[in-house]
Amino acid sequence: MRINTRRKKWAAVAVVTLVSVIASVIVTVIVVGTLDPQSLRPAIIVPLLVAPLATHWGAERLLEIDKLNQQLAHLNRIDQMTQLYNRACLLEKLEQEPEEAGMILIADIDHFKQINDTYGHDVGDLVIIEVARVLQRSSLPEGIAARFGGEEFVIYVPRLDLEAAEFRAEAIRQAVEAQSVMIDGRKLSCTISIGIEIRQMQENVGDVLKRADEALYRAKAQGRNQVVAARRLARAGKSRETAQARRAP
Ligand code: GH3
Ligand code: MG
Ligand code: MG
Repeated sequence: MRINTRRKKWAAVAVVTLVSVIASVIVTVIVVGTLDPQSLRPAIIVPLLVAPLATHWGAERLLEIDKLNQQLAHLNRIDQMTQLYNRACLLEKLEQEPEEAGMILIADIDHFKQINDTYGHDVGDLVIIEVARVLQRSSLPEGIAARFGGEEFVIYVPRLDLEAAEFRAEAIRQAVEAQSVMIDGRKLSCTISIGIEIRQMQENVGDVLKRADEALYRAKAQGRNQVVAARRLARAGKSRETAQARRAP
């Protein structure tokens, strides 16, 4: 039995005490050979005193270990700088929800190296933390945001079709653009480029992320600070192929 609540601790104390008293009485009867009160009294009183104390002490230690394990599990899932979920945690969550269709969004801060080079790494960190705060807020209430590494983030919002996803992603882009951090009395703001893709039910997460990443790459190539939907790229590619096929003799 896993002892992770006070109620379970007291249940363990009661069960162990009862079992100890019964075992002690049985052993005493076997050894002494009779059921006389003289020998039964210590056989009951000793385990009645020792067992609850010992079990309570042991159960308290188990409770502490369980709490530490939970804290450790939490630390393993959270990016310490931004307090967002980390990459491993988001991937795990997405793999646990294969029944859901929804938007996968990859965002990357534009020209972030310049921010680091101009203002220093510490200011760069503050910018990442601020962007993370905006992304976290923008993903609520139904979505989840994660720091995927460096200045790259992933958001998953369930139950969005392409139009709704584009609308949401554009709102997120604008929210980041509108935000700033104060550095020496001056406002420093940044922009993000975004690639989005709709994940169909039970679709492999890696495949969807790859397409969203290609869309992000396109957003960067087209001038940054914009949203590109992988699905639109695929549709544009298909209509180009159809037009070429029609033109071909
Ligand atoms: P682009 O618009 O194409 O994305 O350009 P960029 O400058 O943002 O991209 P690039 O990948 O060249 O630079 C990202 C930089 O982010 C490089 C790396 O040193 C920096 N970086 C990664 N993680 C952190 C971090 O935790 N803190 C800070 N301050 N910088 C980081
Ligand atoms: Mg960047
Ligand atoms: Mg990057």
